[in-house]
Amino acid sequence: MVPFCTQVIFMETKFVFITGGVVSSLGKGIIAASLAKLLQARGLRVTIQKFDPYINIDPGTLNPYEHGECYVTDDGAETDLDLGHYERFLGVHTSKANNVTTGKIYNTVITKEREGAYLGKTVQIVPHITDEIKRRMLLLGQTGEFDVVLTEIGGTVGDMESLPFIEAVRQLQWELPEGSCMSIHLTLVPYLSAAKELKTKPTQHSVQMLQQAGVQPDVIICRTEHPLSDELRRKVALFCNVKPGHVIQSIDAWSIYQVPLNMHAEHLDELVVRKLGIENFNQPDLSKLEEFLDRLKHPKKEVDIALVGKYVSLQDAYKSILEALVHAGAANSCKVHIHSVNSEEITAANVTDKLKGMKGILVAPGFGSRGLEGKVEAVKYARENKIPFFGICLGMQMCVVEFARNVLGFKDADSTEVNPETTHPVIDMMEDQKKTTMKGGTMRLGAYECEITKDTLSYKIYGSKLISERHRHRYEFNARYADDFRKAGLITSGHNPQTGLTEIVELPASVHPFFIGVQFHPEYKSTPENPHPLFRSFIAAAMNFV
Ligand code: GLN
Repeated sequence: MVPFCTQVIFMETKFVFITGGVVSSLGKGIIAASLAKLLQARGLRVTIQKFDPYINIDPGTLNPYEHGECYVTDDGAETDLDLGHYERFLGVHTSKANNVTTGKIYNTVITKEREGAYLGKTVQIVPHITDEIKRRMLLLGQTGEFDVVLTEIGGTVGDMESLPFIEAVRQLQWELPEGSCMSIHLTLVPYLSAAKELKTKPTQHSVQMLQQAGVQPDVIICRTEHPLSDELRRKVALFCNVKPGHVIQSIDAWSIYQVPLNMHAEHLDELVVRKLGIENFNQPDLSKLEEFLDRLKHPKKEVDIALVGKYVSLQDAYKSILEALVHAGAANSCKVHIHSVNSEEITAANVTDKLKGMKGILVAPGFGSRGLEGKVEAVKYARENKIPFFGICLGMQMCVVEFARNVLGFKDADSTEVNPETTHPVIDMMEDQKKTTMKGGTMRLGAYECEITKDTLSYKIYGSKLISERHRHRYEFNARYADDFRKAGLITSGHNPQTGLTEIVELPASVHPFFIGVQFHPEYKSTPENPHPLFRSFIAAAMNFV
């Protein structure tokens, strides 16, 4: 009989697996991104990947209320919002390979089964599903591009869904050469205020569950609201079978960007390079991050910005936009107060009230008809009152609709997404989209080039003629109306050089201080160390608005 697994994998790349226990929402993504940042700042080449235990192929079809924002990569993958954190912390691009779901794993295995690839064998979770998980876990390591690949396992240890992923980690720890991989477990140490005590039992239980699955964590990171004493750390170490000193605290931070510094203070990066036998004695250079944090902490001005959208009750739904505003605020040494305004509640009668005092109005992306008229009202208010306006994707589309209705006089102008019968389809579906019946992964997705017209606001902002931005939409500015818009003052200032599709519309500086709508999603590319120029300029314009 052939042994069950004969494979020993030789690879230069080191692997770090990060699991979470006790409760969800502990900020595993931030911890993974922080560790990656520290390793990168030591001069190592690092990437992070996320394995999500849900059955959707990707989060593209998920309602943002379910799972927060869908983050889009340059290569057009619709991914988990944690990839946004990875890119923001590391300043490097991720790709399709960086986010894998149970759905993708099963899809591959079932397709192979239908092709007869398993030669009559019974296809099972172990080894077929776990083999496919392992294959994907190692992929980025095989490119030779990275010294360390961090893998975050979504969900909480003990969930039925994550079992195959934990089993894959167990097998890899056995198959990979000694010293080339390690495992970190993030847990919660709750504080019981009645007893005035931090409790370690949930952590002990969570680690026991991981051990039962065959995975012994090398480091335990405890999320806590209060500092962990040495005694408590020793207790966790003893009961969880890790070395003293390998229990570290992740105390609530004032900014997510402070977490890498906190983790460094806890020697996390040092523990990891030692454990992985990486001969790297550089101390991480975190000066740029520190500069950013300093500006963030000591703003010289404040500004009120309205974020108009329909998913306002869930913070994570507009994660990248909120982060881009934080980056832009710091770049301007300005504290940005974001006021979420539910577009479903805005009407012509109350718009003044809803947006009173705002120095800038950002109309958010979105899908479907709910809250659209409120977005149109918000654009009108910004345009007429010369308040800095920034429309993103659907926000740009609604600024085109508003202008068509109220300036061009096309009273029923609309996007065919919500009104297919309109006599003025100023936003319309692309021809190739009309044939598509499938929902998942079928939009205009990922990075496309955009050529900017000279002597426009966009050109001034970007300072270059050719840019590249990421997309996620089906509908487009209808070029049939471009002349009408231009004559009335709304110009198209950015176009796709290959297809001619309109990417940016704007009002000239002579009529409005800052009025710009972009079909793409600039928020995906903003980082603390490289704030996006559009967000930076929007905040600067808002600061000048009196
Ligand atoms: N619903 C619009 C479209 O599909 C806008 C999408 C978006 O805002 N991301 O074109």
